[in-house]
Amino acid sequence: MKIQKLAAAACSCGRKHQIPIREIEIAPNLLSHLYQKLAGLGSWDKLLLVADENTWSAAGAQVEEALACRYALEKVILSAGFKPDEESVDAILSSSAHRPDLLLAVGSGTITDLVRYAAANILKIPFVSIPTAPSMDGYASTVSAMTFNGFKITKPARPPLAIYGDLAVLAKAPQRLISAGAADLLGKYTALSDWILARELEGEYYCPYIAGLVQDAADSCRIDTAAIEEGREDAIAKLTEGLILSGIGILMAGSSRPASGSEHHLAHFWEMKEQLEGGKEHLHGEKVAVGSVLSAKAYQFFLEQALDLASIRSSWRTGGLSWEEYKEKLTEVYGPLAGELPVMQAGPATYEPPRFSGRLASARSKIKPPSVRAIQERLRSTGAPASYQELGLPKKWVEDAILYGWEVRERYTIFTLLAQLGLLPKVLDAILA
Ligand SMILES: [Zn+2]
Ligand SMILES: [Zn+2]
Repeated sequence: MKIQKLAAAACSCGRKHQIPIREIEIAPNLLSHLYQKLAGLGSWDKLLLVADENTWSAAGAQVEEALACRYALEKVILSAGFKPDEESVDAILSSSAHRPDLLLAVGSGTITDLVRYAAANILKIPFVSIPTAPSMDGYASTVSAMTFNGFKITKPARPPLAIYGDLAVLAKAPQRLISAGAADLLGKYTALSDWILARELEGEYYCPYIAGLVQDAADSCRIDTAAIEEGREDAIAKLTEGLILSGIGILMAGSSRPASGSEHHLAHFWEMKEQLEGGKEHLHGEKVAVGSVLSAKAYQFFLEQALDLASIRSSWRTGGLSWEEYKEKLTEVYGPLAGELPVMQAGPATYEPPRFSGRLASARSKIKPPSVRAIQERLRSTGAPASYQELGLPKKWVEDAILYGWEVRERYTIFTLLAQLGLLPKVLDAILA
C-alpha cells in the first residue's frame, strides 16, 4: 500500500492531508524479512516486543526469531484476556529497564492500544504494529482505548511508525475476529451517510477524496465465511488493507468522522452497558454490525417519511420532557457515565430548533445509505451477526440506544436528525417491528 500517494498535495476539500505513518505493508511471509523492514525505518539498538499468550504463538515467537540475532530484544507476554489497564502498562514499564528505542506491538486491538499508549505517553519512543488479526480499523489510530480505574477511556497517543502484516499470520486468525473486522468495515456505509447529512444540514467539513477512499475500502471487502475457513490470503489482504485504509481516512480527516457514525454510537452505547451491567462482552465489530443494520433501518424509515418541518419543536432534544426530567432520564440510562455526556455539560440553553428550510429535502436526495437487506446479507455472508437477537443483546439496550445513544457524543447522525424531527419514538417502533 503506497501511503504517501494517498496524501494528495492539495486536496479539493481545501486541506493538505498528512499521514504520519512511514510504511504499511501487508504481504505473505513478511515476518521473515522483518529485520530489513525495521532497518529501513531507522537504526535501533534495543527492541521491546509486546504480545499476549495468543498473539505470541500466532506471530510473536516468529518475530523474535527474525530479530533476536540483530537487536537486543526483550519481551513482555501478557496473559490471554488481559486488559489495557494500569497493571499492563506497569508490565511494559518494568520490562523497559534496558531503555528500548522501539516497541513492537504484536497483536490486534487491545495490544496495539496498550503499546500505542505506552509508546507515546510513558516511554516516548515510536512503535511498529504487527497485526495478528484483521479485526478492527484501529491499527493506524492516534488514540488508545484504555481501561483506567475500571473505566474505559480514550487516551491521545500517536499512530505507529509502520504497520507490517504477514498474510500467513492474518489468515490464521480466529474466524470470529475476522468476521468482526469485516463488520467494522461494512459499518462505513452508514458512517459515510451520516457525514453527508452533517455536511448538508450542519455545514460540517467534508472531504470527497477521503469519503471516496473509505467507500472504496468497504466496497472492495469481498470476504465470506468460505474465504475465512480456507484462509484465502487475497481476501484477507483486501480486508486488512480496507481496515487500515479506513484508519488512514481518520488520520487524513483529523477526526474519526469518515469511519464512525451512528452505527458506532450504538456500538459504544452497548459497550458502555456491558461495562456497567456486566454480562458477556462482544467484539467491537460485532456491535458495529448490529449498529449498522439499525442505522440502515433508521435511514430507510427517514427516506419513507413525508417531511413535516412543522413538527420540529424547540424542545426537540428532550423529546418534550422538561430539562430536569431529561437529565434524570439520561442518568437512569447512562448511570455513573451520564456526567460525561456533552449534553449534560452544555445544558439546555445551547439547543435551538434547527432551521432546515430547503436543505432537508436536498440532503435527503444526496444520501445513499445501504439498503437494510444488502447490509444484512453482506454481514451474514462474513459470519457476523445481523440483528440484535443474533448477537444476544437485551431488547431494552436496543431501545435505549436508539432513543439516547446519539447523546454519547456531539456528532450529527441520522439519529440526531430523527430527534430533531421528533421521530425517535416512531423510528423505534418501526425498527423493532
Ligand atoms: Zn481532502
Ligand atoms: Zn470501528
